[in-house]
Amino acid sequence: MISLIIPCYNEQESLPIFYREVTSVARRMESEYELLFVDDGSKDRTLPILKELAAQDEHVTYFSFSRNFGKEAAMYAGFCNAKGDYIAVMDADMQDPPSLLPQMTAILESGEYDSVATRRTSRTGEPPIRSWFAKRFYRLVNRISDADIVDGARDFRLMRREMAEAIVSMGEYNRFSKGIFGWIGFRTYWMPYDNIERAAGETKWNFWKLFKYAIDGIISFSQAPLSIASWFGMVMTLLSFLFLFLIVIRKAVFGDPVAGWASTICVIVFIGGIQLFCLGIIGQYIAKAYLETKKRPHFIISETNGEDVRKII
Ligand code: UDP
Ligand code: MG
Repeated sequence: MISLIIPCYNEQESLPIFYREVTSVARRMESEYELLFVDDGSKDRTLPILKELAAQDEHVTYFSFSRNFGKEAAMYAGFCNAKGDYIAVMDADMQDPPSLLPQMTAILESGEYDSVATRRTSRTGEPPIRSWFAKRFYRLVNRISDADIVDGARDFRLMRREMAEAIVSMGEYNRFSKGIFGWIGFRTYWMPYDNIERAAGETKWNFWKLFKYAIDGIISFSQAPLSIASWFGMVMTLLSFLFLFLIVIRKAVFGDPVAGWASTICVIVFIGGIQLFCLGIIGQYIAKAYLETKKRPHFIISETNGEDVRKII
């Protein structure tokens, strides 16, 4: 059996298109399937549409969150409740084409791989500045973390149950799926495809949200920023010894009185700035640790048509 996890947030326009496509593909495949729609606190007609679909089609299961918890939480809810031997995550906006599913299943069946992941080879339809920052992000994060995060990787993947169980076992509160997928390992086949633009509706991401997501990703999978403070500290200490030495020599040789209020202020401001910057970095980590220790649930399901559903995790 194949379980498809579909996070939906305000997807009333795309849902009917997606459902039609995915059903026609799934029917052509031989295996049993279930469609797990996770309504992430949508404010439009997403939930009523899901209820209609569930009433007509027994393959449809919906989980409705009590508020918007974000795509990461929606995917986690899906993983926690999927029953299939193969499990996939897909977006509802048709950017993850269901037509790739038969090919992906065939690759898993061959037994050589544990998961088939997709990677877009182009970024058509995306603002150039966003692409530029995305490229920098991937380069940086791969250099400073031990999770292998592939540029252009989408969350769209089909995996064996073992891998999904590993993902469920990563119960961290600050979830960054691209990092989690890379961190748990397993043999992954990368399937390239051309970027496809959204079928309907609007993207939920803006530049600022993506930027914060990128910072979260770095902090979740790397401790490198914490060591910045130590490096700055070491360099500054060396410099200050050098200055001390120079000033003593100058006083001894030329007997100069201390001059240069401007340069003093510059140094004070510079050091103050670096200290605040480093404090800020440490603060980011403390904030994450604070949230983790609270052990709040990742999501709360308020409504569902499924049986034995794990509602609060
Ligand atoms: N999504 C979600 N919760 C959110 C934001 C998005 O479940 O808070 C879902 C959304 O409905 C879609 C998928 O995540 O199925 C990807 O979102 P989107 O298409 O807006 O992102 P993009 O493809 O532009 O990166
Ligand atoms: Mg999309």
